[in-house]
Amino acid sequence: MSDVFKLSIVVPCYNEEDVLHETTKELTAIVKGLIDEKKISETSKIVFVDDGSKDKTWQLIDEFSKNHNVVTGVKLSRNFGHQGALLAGVTSASQDSDAVITIDADLQDDVNAIPKMVDEYLNGAEVVYGVRNNRDTDTAFKRSTAEMFYKFMGFLGVKLVPDSADYRLMSQRACQVLLSYRERNLFLRGIVPLVGFKSAKVYYARKERFAGESKYPLRKMIKFAIDGVTSFSIVPIKLIMGLGFFIVFFSFVLLIYSFIRKINGDVIPGWSSLMISIWALGGVQLISISVIGEYVGKIFSEVKQRPRFTIERDIYTEKTQEENKR
Ligand code: UDP
Ligand code: MG
Repeated sequence: MSDVFKLSIVVPCYNEEDVLHETTKELTAIVKGLIDEKKISETSKIVFVDDGSKDKTWQLIDEFSKNHNVVTGVKLSRNFGHQGALLAGVTSASQDSDAVITIDADLQDDVNAIPKMVDEYLNGAEVVYGVRNNRDTDTAFKRSTAEMFYKFMGFLGVKLVPDSADYRLMSQRACQVLLSYRERNLFLRGIVPLVGFKSAKVYYARKERFAGESKYPLRKMIKFAIDGVTSFSIVPIKLIMGLGFFIVFFSFVLLIYSFIRKINGDVIPGWSSLMISIWALGGVQLISISVIGEYVGKIFSEVKQRPRFTIERDIYTEKTQEENKR
């Protein structure tokens, strides 16, 4: 056995036919470079995960896997979302890879950070976070909302590594721990820091998407953020209680106030105060119920224990078994 380790690079892809050529080119160059340097084993692989794409993504992956030794793919039976696709890839790859890197397909994450991550791994880090050192390519809106999100999560006591997305390296052991977190509402960014072990950071500049458009429209981003908060913290429920006490107290003050005015012979014209309080309280109640509903919904989806992804075809495992036979 050589002492070089097997690396797998997991790449979730959803309708990425426009970028796959270029991504494959850049990633294979990096992997081959590392193999030549004898830093990683020749059996190292790229694992494209087709997350139920509607375009030619899978055909391309299948074709590339025939032409390149290092390219493999996993096809999911339908679209499970970015986090599910990542998990599927990590599940397959971590069976026999010593370390797994996850990276987006669109080349926004600089592939040149991969060798740096490998070096950190060789220095003993089991989790290496890719951290962007600029957000120039994001819109001002995305930048400010992202910053607010990280601040809010910090306020709720959830530890995140700011400006790190799903670009990271994990040792096999760290992957196994990650996979033992059984929740359905996946928020990997929050779970990975919980895994523990020695960690390191690698800084890189985040670029524009190479081609195609973002698969994360505002709607998905908001859902993702809500998932992040409610999967990790029950502080929102506690806030409702505080709010409830405050409102009860405030209405008590109002009561005393109107009582005093009544004693002084003032007639309180009731329309505005009534309408305002009815509407305000109605709103508060609706918000509160929706927060609770969010958690009830979480319980509902967690207790069902539905599969987090379903693999239709796994070229990674096919290839690995083939190689082991030889
Ligand atoms: N993606 C996926 N399933 C989805 C949506 C996205 O596998 O349902 C992949 C997508 O192909 C890309 C990565 O997740 O590789 C990040 O998506 P995108 O680049 O669209 O998000 P953004 O960078 O705009 O946040
Ligand atoms: Mg992107």
